[in-house]
Amino acid sequence: MEREGHRGNFANQIELFISAVAFDHMRSHITQHMPFESGGLLTGARVSSHFVIEEFLPLNVVMPSYSRYVSSARDTVKTILWADRNGKRIVGTIHSHPGGSNCPSEIDLDNAYGYKNMIHLIAYPSHGQVSFSAFYYYLSTVHVQAIDYEEIAYTLI
Ligand SMILES: [Zn+2]
Repeated sequence: MEREGHRGNFANQIELFISAVAFDHMRSHITQHMPFESGGLLTGARVSSHFVIEEFLPLNVVMPSYSRYVSSARDTVKTILWADRNGKRIVGTIHSHPGGSNCPSEIDLDNAYGYKNMIHLIAYPSHGQVSFSAFYYYLSTVHVQAIDYEEIAYTLI
């Protein structure tokens, strides 16, 4: 079933900080994989509505695609276990939209049920370089079986 996304208003303000190391790592990985979609997991810290992204953990894709990001299940499980063993907390995901959209796609929102309470970064080409937009998804309190989402501003640290 396709789920529609609705831009909602947050009761509490989410604050996001991204380390320069993670930012540079994401940008170089995603640039290298253009024009195919790529992505990975983000580790860091969360205290109430404050998120810090400290590290980018790239994931292999099942097969190269211009329009669909599907990470390898095996690689994803290995990476989650590695993060757990090393005391790292997964606070977000990232994938690219080489076509240039800076918003979650219908497929992204359809898959969002498993990834609530996390930051979702979307990387997209803009003016010759890779830019990022950040979102938070949550179950709609207004629309039945829908995902509400809101763009979040971020600060590099
Ligand atoms: Zn997407």
